[in-house]
Amino acid sequence: MTILEFQARFGTEEGCREYLFCSRWPEGFLCPACGGRDAGAETRRHLWICTGCGRQTSITAGTVMHKTRLPLRTWFWAAYLVSTFHPGISAKQLQRQLGIGCHETAWAMLHKFRAAMVAPERELLKREVEIDEFFLGGYEEGLKGGRQHGKKTLVGAAIEVRGRGSGRLRLQVLPDSQASTLEAFTKRTTAPGAIVHTDGLFSYSGLPKLGYDHRPRKVASVGADEQLLPRVHRAISNLKAWMHGTHRRVSPEHMSVYLDEFVFRHNRRGTPMAGFQTLLGLGLAHDPLTYREIIDRAA
Ligand SMILES: [Zn+2]
Repeated sequence: MTILEFQARFGTEEGCREYLFCSRWPEGFLCPACGGRDAGAETRRHLWICTGCGRQTSITAGTVMHKTRLPLRTWFWAAYLVSTFHPGISAKQLQRQLGIGCHETAWAMLHKFRAAMVAPERELLKREVEIDEFFLGGYEEGLKGGRQHGKKTLVGAAIEVRGRGSGRLRLQVLPDSQASTLEAFTKRTTAPGAIVHTDGLFSYSGLPKLGYDHRPRKVASVGADEQLLPRVHRAISNLKAWMHGTHRRVSPEHMSVYLDEFVFRHNRRGTPMAGFQTLLGLGLAHDPLTYREIIDRAA
């Protein structure tokens, strides 16, 4: 969706409310208490009140906007910026772009969005996967101005092979590169039976026993113009550029949060609007609604 389309649809509180209504009740209002289909609206508190039994239902319940004092518009625009703006947006930028009064509010919004980025990434990778581990960080800005060598964090990466391209990505902070750690990472990310490409590191040699079709590749066996594990390395170099560009001062304790954000962006790079819905906490039960569908249903 372009910024103009977004403005046309979500430029008013009414437009945002309509979208929430359609996400919750795609077939029209349905009272959770009595099954009644008629309701009156109390728009200030985002409530729908059943005509039959009087039960109040909030259209923001279960979303990041529940009990918010901010206009819905602000939330919708924040989620739009966070899900479509590359390489990402800081709390300060969000505050400035949306005219949010205090920095803490913008920070809290980003924090809620980041929490929503973790949840949907549980499904195991399938069929054919590249797995590798690498060090990240070590370029934190020092107090004295110049770059200091911060502590590096070991990260495991697993990515699906989709033809010549890549599918879904998983990243995780690892304590070490021992066999038990890398085997646990593989089990947590990749479905048994999958073809797993790794380098020749001995720690991966137990994968066949765990039911994987393990295909380790040695550097010497790869042609000069052919990269070892090209998809995972492309993802790693994108991650490094992103971390370096937007999140210079990530300490090792907070690394996981940023890895989750990167994975979220990577896995939705073709469908930013699906990311938008996930951030707001909407539409998890069905496919994203198109503008047309919402207009048709509201009519
Ligand atoms: Zn009712």
